[in-house]
Amino acid sequence: MVEQLPSLSRLLRALQRVPYLASKNVYRVTSHFLTMDPKQLAQFCAVLQEAQASLVLCSVCYCWQERQSACIFCSATDRAQDIICVVESWKELMYLERTKGFEGVYHVLGGVISPLEGIGPEDLTIQALLKRAETAKEIIFATSQTPEGEATAAYIAHKLKQTPVAVTCLARGLPVGSSLDSIDRVTVYKALAERRPF
Ligand SMILES: [Zn+2]
Repeated sequence: MVEQLPSLSRLLRALQRVPYLASKNVYRVTSHFLTMDPKQLAQFCAVLQEAQASLVLCSVCYCWQERQSACIFCSATDRAQDIICVVESWKELMYLERTKGFEGVYHVLGGVISPLEGIGPEDLTIQALLKRAETAKEIIFATSQTPEGEATAAYIAHKLKQTPVAVTCLARGLPVGSSLDSIDRVTVYKALAERRPF
């Protein structure tokens, strides 16, 4: 049927190429866009294009920053620049920031080591982290408590053995196999505040 509606099938194909958009959501999202007020749709497209044009990854912590200004974390004078919290993606960073309890800076790895998915240490920002660790006081692992997350932290901790930096991780109490997005703010805050040696 959909082949006879070339515009609809083009839209469906485009949306199906969006990662993480579950196939069962694709029809609802399609309806949402098709019934949107044309003015709002134009605004939506403009916001998306502007965001892509204005945002770049910080070359130090690999979080998003406005192209025109300095990284809000790396340039912050009220943050301890030598306490670095290691996260898999900026999603976890957002969850940690929501607690308002962390006064250090971040390092976004860009994923976890996963041989099954062909992701090795060289595909992540590990080299840059090791360089930063040379002058840091503490490295805190906030990677997920999944086998891949733990293995990635262990790999980095091993590489840091020669450096005098303190290596810690979030407190136990987070459910095993959990990621930060499934945990409430207070628990995340406590896990961060009561961090322990890795
Ligand atoms: Zn930065």
